[in-house]
Amino acid sequence: MDNQESATLLARLIGGDFPDDRGRFGPFGGRYAPETLMPALQRLEAGVRRYLHDSAFAAELGHELREWVGRPTPLTPVRHLGRNWGAEVWLKREDLAHTGAHKINNALGQALLAQRLGAKRVIAETGAGQHGVATAAACARVGIPCTVYMGAVDVRRQAPNVDRMHQLGARVVPVESGDRTLRAAIDEAFRDWVSDPEDAYYLLGSAVGPHPYPWLVRELQSVIGREARAQFLEMTGGLPDIAVACVGGGSNAIGLFHPFVADAAVRLMGVEAGGRGAGLGENSATLERGRPGVLHGSYSVLLQDADGQVQETHSISAGLDYPGVGPEHALLKAIGRVDYVSATDSEALEALRECCAAEGILPALESSHALAGARRWARENPGRRILIGLSGRGDKDMPTLSQAFPGAATTTSHH
Ligand SMILES: *Cc1c(COP(=O)(O)O)cnc(C)c1O
Repeated sequence: MDNQESATLLARLIGGDFPDDRGRFGPFGGRYAPETLMPALQRLEAGVRRYLHDSAFAAELGHELREWVGRPTPLTPVRHLGRNWGAEVWLKREDLAHTGAHKINNALGQALLAQRLGAKRVIAETGAGQHGVATAAACARVGIPCTVYMGAVDVRRQAPNVDRMHQLGARVVPVESGDRTLRAAIDEAFRDWVSDPEDAYYLLGSAVGPHPYPWLVRELQSVIGREARAQFLEMTGGLPDIAVACVGGGSNAIGLFHPFVADAAVRLMGVEAGGRGAGLGENSATLERGRPGVLHGSYSVLLQDADGQVQETHSISAGLDYPGVGPEHALLKAIGRVDYVSATDSEALEALRECCAAEGILPALESSHALAGARRWARENPGRRILIGLSGRGDKDMPTLSQAFPGAATTTSHH
């Protein structure tokens, strides 16, 4: 893409042209779905247009975000990390949102939308179980029954989250087909929706999928960036030099970035999972290493081999372990508005430890990728103001952390 073309697309993005009527973000996005799904997607799009920015809906959502989710989440200056890095650093604390991550913003907003649309039940997919837990909680609050599809492999790996979903009243269906992980769970959730499009609402968990999901999820997650921008202005009188977030499907990142896209002086950086390294199947660095293609209903960038087969991925953080990415990120990269880099498993672990020791905050392994990317940037660009989206808390990662840091779990007994 040449400079002129990029500038035109950026101006259109800032002007609110994207997604366009066909659900496109420039060349990316759209709706690549079987004919049987089109009526349900069209009905959902009409519902989003009708309710999302309707004042009664916005008032109810705002009320629930305050009273139940605990928003606004704090913006925390972290002076010890800043001193270590030679920077001024602030964390946007989505780890303090109800259920422990940003996912609740989307789950609650869509559950309220499902209710407005007269849905009798909600369907969701989940990988590690974080989106399943957020959806189960939101559906209990709103009062709609909820079925969560989860790969059979993940059901075994993530037993505590399966129990949390059950406690919150959700039905969890283990998926035995395909790869028996997140990809198979998404396919199964779509299948259920196709068979019951009148009564079911499919509550998708990231800024991916066919139109209108990437747009709907961006709008619901943008509360992160709107709050952070206002809090930063109030606390410092200015804007950050850079805003940094981790990127799996891209929902917390697009939520943080979107309100800053028009601020030309604010650099934006997304950090993907560099995993064990650059080899095929060793990472989930989709934007860094992928090529354009269609996955789960949308034209974006994905990790595929030379024959166009979707690649296996790896990341120490389950939430970043996905071969695709939302189409708006593909556009933001193509026009050069956001830089996408990666952090490896071991860099993320190191950043997690540093954040625990320096600030008394245990970040999620996903969020630790943002910390690692920000730290590297700070070292190359001394004395800057850095805003980091801390997408979630790390309590869920304790089994992984005990394996990674065996000595740390032993206790000392006193006599
Ligand atoms: C799910 C998850 C992510 C990754 O999802 P995005 O859609 O890319 O935001 C990041 N952080 C946490 C804590 C998560 O639970």
